[in-house]
This record gives sequence, structure tokens and C-alpha cells, in this order.
Amino acid sequence: MGGGCAPAHESVRDEAKVMPRGVRWIKDRAIGIDPDKREVTLGSGVTVSYDFLVVCPGIQLDWDAIPGLTDTLGNSGVSSNYRFDLAPRTWEFLKDFRGGTAVFTHPPGAIKCPGAPQKIAYLAAHWWQQQGVLDDIHVVLVLPTATMFSVPEFSRVLEQVVDRYGIDVRFRHDFVEIDPQAREAIFVNRNNGGSERVAVAYDVLHAVPPQSAPDWIKKSPLVTDESGGYVAVDKHTLQHVRWPDVFALGDAGNTPNSKTGAAIRKQAPVVVKNLLAAMKGRDPSQKYDGYASCPLTTARNKMLLAEFDYTLKPRPSFPLINLQKERRDMWYLKRWGLPFLYWNLMLRGRA
Ligand SMILES: Cc1cc2nc3c(=O)[nH]c(=O)nc-3n(C[C@H](O)[C@H](O)[C@H](O)COP(=O)(O)OP(=O)(O)OC[C@H]3O[C@@H](n4cnc5c(N)ncnc54)[C@H](O)[C@@H]3O)c2cc1C
Repeated sequence: MGGGCAPAHESVRDEAKVMPRGVRWIKDRAIGIDPDKREVTLGSGVTVSYDFLVVCPGIQLDWDAIPGLTDTLGNSGVSSNYRFDLAPRTWEFLKDFRGGTAVFTHPPGAIKCPGAPQKIAYLAAHWWQQQGVLDDIHVVLVLPTATMFSVPEFSRVLEQVVDRYGIDVRFRHDFVEIDPQAREAIFVNRNNGGSERVAVAYDVLHAVPPQSAPDWIKKSPLVTDESGGYVAVDKHTLQHVRWPDVFALGDAGNTPNSKTGAAIRKQAPVVVKNLLAAMKGRDPSQKYDGYASCPLTTARNKMLLAEFDYTLKPRPSFPLINLQKERRDMWYLKRWGLPFLYWNLMLRGRA
């Protein structure tokens, strides 16, 4: 959507249409969990008791952690694909841009889809190349990491991608502030152990907010000193480390995988089987291996399918083709195959 390759309406459905049959859907917000009493408190004040609990409220977008950002979003060339309503706005800003500086940010810490901050930069750069204006645009990609990607095999491919577009990559820079009046983004340069504040002037900017566990989860008994505010589960069985009747999966769990829908596709069957075992009083036997995949759109017709697990080694789903390079067939998988898989198979537990 943000890259102008898919319309917004294709990315959304009424929640009622994807709700499985036989589920009692309580339209309220969980605000607290008491695992000793086996109770969930809702925003309305009602408590719901449970025998077993699966916690999966996702990750929290901390927009206000970047001073100046919330009020700037959607205006003066600043947008973010991390808000559904703003993704089309991103494309409005990028589509007609013809010269100046375009900045793409990536915050430090865990985020959902760590590839997304880069994907939009490549979709934009390729668009500008197709329009013949890329030479007039200074594309700056600012990363908190020391490399392009955590898996060296994919990092090497992405190094070639940024070279191809002439993207100016700033490693080990933390996005800390935005000054919309001066049209400057402020970063802390952590190279060589430093903490120097650096201002980068922008004409358009794609912002990705810092993220953390939902505040109510951070305050719940389900976290431990080591779980960083996320629900503390065993990284293989996804069962809570203290309460065996509690499981967690998805972005809210503290498992050290890349936070993606692709990871959840592999976690969900593990949780189901281990939950059924727990209901029968047995130990959990199924193990999640940390699989995640990041479909990195490196051009408007090419994709690098980065699949890996806890070992941070490539773990290809299609063993007969070379997935350590950008591929056009993978673009079609991303554009048409994965949405079909998501809406028709994943949400029904069939893939
Ligand atoms: C721009 C972008 C691009 C991405 N691209 C990809 C990609 O290409 N491939 C990929 O695999 N992943 C991608 N992801 C990541 C993927 O969307 C997430 O990892 C995934 O949606 C996490 O699922 P989840 O169920 O844990 O959380 P969510 O999808 O956030 O769902 C949480 C649910 O819990 C509900 N909820 C929250 N709080 C409460 C509460 N207190 N009480 C009751 N209900 C609550 C919410 O309403 C929501 O329905 C992308 C994410 C973004 C933002």
C-alpha cells in the first residue's frame, strides 16, 4: 500500500468475516490478567475466568517516544506504513517526489516486521529510478544495527541492493526526535561507542515508531525480569515459564524470533498441540524452532524471501530454487500468493 503496489481495500476485512465459527467473541478490551485466580479483567470491569489462556495482543507502537512525531504524521512529507490509514499517504508523498532528500527510519529494539523499514525505501527508490529522477534524490536509510540484516547471507544481497540504488545507509543510528519546523530528523550516532546527536534534513520521511509490549502486559504478572516486558514463555513450547495453563504467541511473546506473521504461522500449530496436551495433563511435546520469514521487496518486481530460524541461518521453504537472491517469482508470491495464503488458509488454520 505504502509503495503504491496494492490498494488499501485488498488489505482489510471485517473482523466478523474472519471470526471462526463456535467462538464466543467478547467485544471488549483485556486490561489485566490474574494467573493465580485464572481471571482476565476487561475494560468494562467484567472479569472472565478461564481454565487455559492464550495471550496474543500484539506489540505496542510507541509513537510518542519520538518527540514531534505524532503531530507531524501525515503532514509535511512525513508518513508511516505502521498506521493503516497513513500507508496510502506514504505513497502520495513518494509518488510525486522529484528531488531532494528522502529519509527512511528504523527504531532500535524489537519491532514487527524488521524488514518493513527497508522495503519501503527500495520500493520508492525503484519507482524514482523508473521515473528517471533517482539521481536527483538523496535516499538516506538510517538503521540502528551494524549490518543490513541479522542473517549474513541475506545481508550480502541487501548490500548490493542499496548500492544499486545509491542509498546512503547510516548504521548504528537511533531515531530520537523530529523537528517539523526545521524539517530535520534527529538521530544519535552510536558508532565507536559515541552518543553524538546528528540532524538529517528531509523533504520526505518514512517513520517507523519504537515498539514495546502493551503497557498492560508490561504491568502484568506474566512478565519476568528477563522477558523485557513481553509475556515470558518457553521459546520452544510457547508455554508460560511459571503458569502451565498460560501460552503466548505472536508479537506479545518474548520468544527471540523475528516478529512476523510468518512466525505466527509456525507458532500457532505448536500452541494448539501443546494446549491440547496441557488440557489432558501431559507435558508439551511440540517445539517451535524460531522460524520467521521476511519477504523483502527489493524492487517493484523483485523480492528476496529471507527465511531463517533461531540459528540465524537460512531455512528455505522451497529447497530446489536459490532463495539467496532477489527473484521475480517471489515478487508474485508476495503480491498475490501470500495475501491468498493469509486470508484463505492461515486464518482458517489450514496453512
Ligand atoms: C508495515 C508492516 C509490514 C509487515 N509485513 C509483514 C510481512 O511481510 N510478513 C510478515 O510475516 N509479517 C509482517 N508484518 C508483521 C505482522 O503484521 C505482525 O507480526 C503480526 O500481525 C503480529 O500478529 P499478532 O497476532 O501477534 O498481533 P496483531 O496482528 O497486532 O494482533 C493483535 C490482536 O489483539 C487485539 N488486541 C490488542 N490488545 C488487546 C486487548 N487489550 N484486549 C483484546 N484484544 C486486544 C488487536 O485488536 C488485534 O486484533 C508487518 C507489519 C507491519 C506493520
